[in-house]
Amino acid sequence: MRLIIASGNKGKVEEYGRMLLPVGFEAVSMSRAGFNAEISEDGATFEENARLKARAVYEYAKKLGARTVPVIADDSGLEVDYLGGEPGVRSARFAPVGQRRARVLEKLRGVPKEKRTARFVCCICYIGEKGDEIVVRGECEGYIGFENRGENGFGYDSIFMAGNKSFAEMSGAEKNEISHRGKALRELVGTLKGIKID
Ligand code: IMP
Repeated sequence: MRLIIASGNKGKVEEYGRMLLPVGFEAVSMSRAGFNAEISEDGATFEENARLKARAVYEYAKKLGARTVPVIADDSGLEVDYLGGEPGVRSARFAPVGQRRARVLEKLRGVPKEKRTARFVCCICYIGEKGDEIVVRGECEGYIGFENRGENGFGYDSIFMAGNKSFAEMSGAEKNEISHRGKALRELVGTLKGIKID
């Protein structure tokens, strides 16, 4: 069965596609499904934003075809305890592109390691054919490093330490094993396996 990934990010669509194939879904991007509009992400929580995005694309797809198609959307970000949970749901717009990691490091200047605790959070919302909804959440605990480390990944990866390595020092597979997104997606796949798909 086809499933629409409500994201413009090609990497995300491929990653979700790989994990959803064994559960019987062929993932297609929302642009391939003909949806190109901006979706507002002004919810107060990751859950709310994931639901807003999934619902917008689901309703759109419903209008397009006689047969409705399942949709998934996610919302993710970094919560830094010392900053009261910031950047949180504002992770993608916390500072101009290219300045976000520096902004976090700057705000934590002089703060000792034990007070630099942080976590990545990912919420995924699945809406099934009949409009039924599943929301899952994955978290990965770590701390903010003292400098950028590693070349892989994206976003805040090079300042987020999980154990003695930053996310940007890990391979994709290594990160996926412990990451917020990997955890949330595995939980969703587990739940979907328990639901009959025709
Ligand atoms: P969105 O979930 O696509 O709205 O992205 C939220 C923002 O959170 C991204 O632009 C990144 O800055 C940040 N983010 C979310 N997940 C990760 C991750 O795995 N590594 C680094 N940054 C992330």
